[in-house]
Amino acid sequence: MLFYAVVGNPVKHSKSPQIHKMFAKQTDQELQYTAVEIEDVDFDEFVKDFFAEGGGGLNVTVPFKEKAFALAVDCSERACLAKAVNTLFMDGDKKLCGDNTDGIGLVRDLTVNNKVELQGKRLLLLGAGGAARGALAALVSEQALSVTIANRTLSRAEQLRDEFGDLVELQVKSFDQLGSEQFDIIINATSSSLSGETLPIDPAVIADGCCCYDMMYGAQATPFLSWAKENGARLALDGLGMLVEQAAESFALWRGVRPDTTPVIEHLINSGE
Ligand code: NDP
Repeated sequence: MLFYAVVGNPVKHSKSPQIHKMFAKQTDQELQYTAVEIEDVDFDEFVKDFFAEGGGGLNVTVPFKEKAFALAVDCSERACLAKAVNTLFMDGDKKLCGDNTDGIGLVRDLTVNNKVELQGKRLLLLGAGGAARGALAALVSEQALSVTIANRTLSRAEQLRDEFGDLVELQVKSFDQLGSEQFDIIINATSSSLSGETLPIDPAVIADGCCCYDMMYGAQATPFLSWAKENGARLALDGLGMLVEQAAESFALWRGVRPDTTPVIEHLINSGE
């Protein structure tokens, strides 16, 4: 039986083992999937040993996505754009391959699961870390009317503009420079909700019919989503669907079959697991 894992630190809270178990059952495949917590210094060795022992594939999460990118011999275009890898596997020539399925996971959750059109919309992406990079790598091909990035540390957002500028025109702002310019879709790719903080942005940025999306998820509404609802957003969505969608893309890369994500998302929501 082939074995798979998600590697990160911390990772014990991860829903990935549960999600992949449901995918395997649904597609009638036998596999094992575990969560492995390791120390920073052990990452490269862990990956080499995992595949040397016959591992089928790895998901990589915080804080190892950049290390995985550096280690992979062959990376997909979207992983190269994001400079981060969340999915590792060996190809037929035993070459370590890296991909990044976070961005497509986000786009599918917005457009397929929640029927949110991106084309022609004014998009605001909050954050300039790994998740924002992964998201941008997928969002650049969605033909938004405009894409603005706002980050606490302006220089990190400017860095993204320098890297992605050939693919899409990006406006870059600090939170207070946002003023009252309005947006149709606002995506929170910061980790502010992790620390229970509300971002210092003017609620006037929420346009009529606006969709607010927090990549974070949890049993309770995140501070960002509470702020969105209080200030009139039409939709306030958390990142659970993105998590399941990015996992389905990884599963498809490894197993050649894409599971149906709808029953898995419904199960996670209804069971509260
Ligand atoms: P990084 O550490 O790479 O980046 C963190 C970002 O958040 C930076 O832009 C940072 O700004 C900003 N930030 C952190 N704290 C605050 C704060 N208190 N106020 C304002 N900005 C803040 O993290 P990731 O990009 O990897 O992850 C970001 C979030 O996305 C996490 O909550 C993670 O759980 C979620 N995520 C969800 C996924 C899913 O499938 N649903 C997939 C991937 C990520 P600065 O540059 O100024 O430090």
